Amino acid sequence: MASEKEAALAASPSDDSPTIFDKIINKQIPANIVYEDEHVLAFRDISPQAPTHILVIPKLRNGLTGISKAEEKHFEILGRLLYTAKIVAKQEGLDDGFRLVINDGPSGCQSVYHLHIHLLGGRQMNWPPG
Ligand code: ADP
Repeated sequence: MASEKEAALAASPSDDSPTIFDKIINKQIPANIVYEDEHVLAFRDISPQAPTHILVIPKLRNGLTGISKAEEKHFEILGRLLYTAKIVAKQEGLDDGFRLVINDGPSGCQSVYHLHIHLLGGRQMNWPPG
Protein backbone atom coordinates (compact mmCIF):
# COMPACT_ATOMS: atom_id res chain seq x y z
CA MET A 1 0.00 0.00 0.00
CA ALA A 2 1.29 3.45 -0.91
CA SER A 3 2.45 5.67 1.94
CA GLU A 4 0.33 8.66 2.89
CA LYS A 5 2.89 10.87 1.18
CA GLU A 6 2.85 8.83 -2.03
CA ALA A 7 -0.96 8.83 -2.04
CA ALA A 8 -0.98 12.58 -1.53
CA LEU A 9 1.48 13.21 -4.33
CA ALA A 10 -0.50 10.94 -6.67
CA ALA A 11 -3.81 12.71 -5.94
CA SER A 12 -4.78 15.59 -8.17
CA PRO A 13 -5.40 18.88 -6.36
CA SER A 14 -7.54 20.15 -9.24
CA ASP A 15 -9.72 17.06 -9.26
CA ASP A 16 -13.36 17.93 -8.67
CA SER A 17 -14.67 14.41 -9.34
CA PRO A 18 -16.41 12.35 -6.63
CA THR A 19 -14.20 10.82 -3.98
CA ILE A 20 -14.38 7.78 -1.74
CA PHE A 21 -16.10 10.02 0.83
CA ASP A 22 -19.14 10.40 -1.47
CA LYS A 23 -19.57 6.64 -1.32
CA ILE A 24 -19.40 6.79 2.47
CA ILE A 25 -21.95 9.63 2.57
CA ASN A 26 -24.26 7.70 0.24
CA LYS A 27 -23.75 4.50 2.28
CA GLN A 28 -22.43 2.69 -0.81
CA ILE A 29 -19.43 1.52 1.18
CA PRO A 30 -19.33 0.87 4.92
CA ALA A 31 -17.79 3.23 7.42
CA ASN A 32 -17.73 3.35 11.18
CA ILE A 33 -19.90 6.42 11.61
CA VAL A 34 -19.71 8.11 15.01
CA TYR A 35 -21.80 11.21 14.29
CA GLU A 36 -24.25 12.24 11.60
CA ASP A 37 -26.65 15.10 11.07
CA GLU A 38 -28.15 16.89 8.07
CA HIS A 39 -24.91 18.67 7.20
CA VAL A 40 -21.99 16.77 8.70
CA LEU A 41 -20.70 13.20 8.89
CA ALA A 42 -17.96 11.89 11.18
CA PHE A 43 -16.46 8.42 10.82
CA ARG A 44 -13.37 6.52 11.96
CA ASP A 45 -10.33 6.75 9.70
CA ILE A 46 -9.56 3.46 7.99
CA SER A 47 -5.86 3.90 8.76
CA PRO A 48 -5.77 5.36 12.26
CA GLN A 49 -2.74 7.39 13.29
CA ALA A 50 -3.80 7.55 16.94
CA PRO A 51 -6.08 5.51 19.23
CA THR A 52 -8.86 7.88 18.20
CA HIS A 53 -8.73 9.06 14.59
CA ILE A 54 -11.96 10.39 13.14
CA LEU A 55 -12.68 12.35 9.98
CA VAL A 56 -15.28 15.11 10.08
CA ILE A 57 -16.63 16.04 6.65
CA PRO A 58 -19.38 18.13 5.06
CA LYS A 59 -22.05 15.97 3.40
CA LEU A 60 -22.25 18.50 0.57
CA ARG A 61 -18.78 19.31 -0.76
CA ASN A 62 -20.00 22.42 -2.60
CA GLY A 63 -16.58 23.20 -4.08
CA LEU A 64 -14.71 22.51 -0.85
CA THR A 65 -12.20 20.09 -2.30
CA GLY A 66 -9.86 21.51 0.35
CA ILE A 67 -9.64 24.34 2.84
CA SER A 68 -7.71 26.43 0.31
CA LYS A 69 -10.94 26.60 -1.74
CA ALA A 70 -12.97 28.12 1.10
CA GLU A 71 -15.12 31.15 0.28
CA GLU A 72 -17.55 33.28 2.24
CA LYS A 73 -20.40 30.94 1.20
CA HIS A 74 -18.70 28.24 3.27
CA PHE A 75 -18.61 30.17 6.56
CA GLU A 76 -21.53 28.25 8.07
CA ILE A 77 -20.35 24.76 7.15
CA LEU A 78 -16.81 25.54 8.32
CA GLY A 79 -18.20 26.51 11.71
CA ARG A 80 -20.31 23.37 11.81
CA LEU A 81 -17.32 21.16 11.04
CA LEU A 82 -15.21 22.64 13.84
CA TYR A 83 -18.09 22.52 16.30
CA THR A 84 -18.82 18.90 15.37
CA ALA A 85 -15.16 18.00 15.92
CA LYS A 86 -15.47 19.38 19.45
CA ILE A 87 -18.71 17.45 20.06
CA VAL A 88 -17.17 14.21 18.80
CA ALA A 89 -14.01 14.75 20.88
CA LYS A 90 -16.24 15.02 23.94
CA GLN A 91 -18.22 11.95 22.85
CA GLU A 92 -14.92 10.03 22.52
CA GLY A 93 -13.86 11.07 26.02
CA LEU A 94 -10.85 13.09 24.87
CA ASP A 95 -11.03 15.30 27.95
CA ASP A 96 -7.25 15.74 28.24
CA GLY A 97 -6.93 17.19 24.77
CA PHE A 98 -6.79 16.27 21.14
CA ARG A 99 -5.56 17.53 17.80
CA LEU A 100 -7.44 18.78 14.74
CA VAL A 101 -5.63 18.65 11.40
CA ILE A 102 -6.54 19.79 7.90
CA ASN A 103 -4.11 18.70 5.19
CA ASP A 104 -4.20 20.84 2.06
CA GLY A 105 -2.70 20.11 -1.34
CA PRO A 106 0.31 17.98 -2.22
CA SER A 107 2.67 19.74 0.19
CA GLY A 108 0.10 19.41 2.95
CA CYS A 109 -0.15 15.66 2.25
CA GLN A 110 -3.82 15.78 1.20
CA SER A 111 -4.95 12.64 -0.63
CA VAL A 112 -8.76 12.92 -0.63
CA TYR A 113 -10.14 16.06 -2.25
CA HIS A 114 -13.26 16.46 -0.13
CA LEU A 115 -12.59 18.76 2.81
CA HIS A 116 -12.10 16.86 6.04
CA ILE A 117 -10.89 17.58 9.54
CA HIS A 118 -8.81 14.87 11.18
CA LEU A 119 -9.63 14.49 14.88
CA LEU A 120 -6.74 12.71 16.59
CA GLY A 121 -6.50 11.77 20.24
CA GLY A 122 -5.91 9.14 22.86
CA ARG A 123 -2.13 9.57 22.96
CA GLN A 124 0.38 12.35 23.60
CA MET A 125 0.91 14.35 20.43
CA ASN A 126 4.30 15.66 19.37
CA TRP A 127 5.34 18.95 17.84
CA PRO A 128 6.36 19.71 15.14
CA PRO A 129 4.26 17.30 13.07
CA GLY A 130 6.02 15.39 10.30
P1 ADP B 1 -3.59 11.56 4.04
O1 ADP B 1 -4.00 10.34 3.25
O2 ADP B 1 -2.18 12.00 3.76
O3 ADP B 1 -3.91 11.50 5.49
P2 ADP B 1 -5.84 13.32 3.77
O4 ADP B 1 -5.69 14.43 4.75
O5 ADP B 1 -6.49 13.65 2.46
O6 ADP B 1 -4.47 12.71 3.42
O7 ADP B 1 -6.65 12.19 4.53
C1 ADP B 1 -7.46 11.25 3.91
C2 ADP B 1 -7.81 10.25 4.98
O8 ADP B 1 -8.87 9.43 4.51
C3 ADP B 1 -6.65 9.30 5.33
O9 ADP B 1 -6.34 9.44 6.71
C4 ADP B 1 -7.20 7.92 4.99
O10 ADP B 1 -6.76 6.93 5.88
C5 ADP B 1 -8.70 8.16 5.08
N1 ADP B 1 -9.51 7.25 4.32
C6 ADP B 1 -9.38 6.91 3.00
N2 ADP B 1 -10.34 6.05 2.65
C7 ADP B 1 -11.11 5.83 3.74
C8 ADP B 1 -12.25 5.03 4.02
N3 ADP B 1 -12.82 4.26 3.08
N4 ADP B 1 -12.77 5.04 5.27
C9 ADP B 1 -12.22 5.81 6.23
N5 ADP B 1 -11.14 6.59 6.03
C10 ADP B 1 -10.59 6.59 4.81
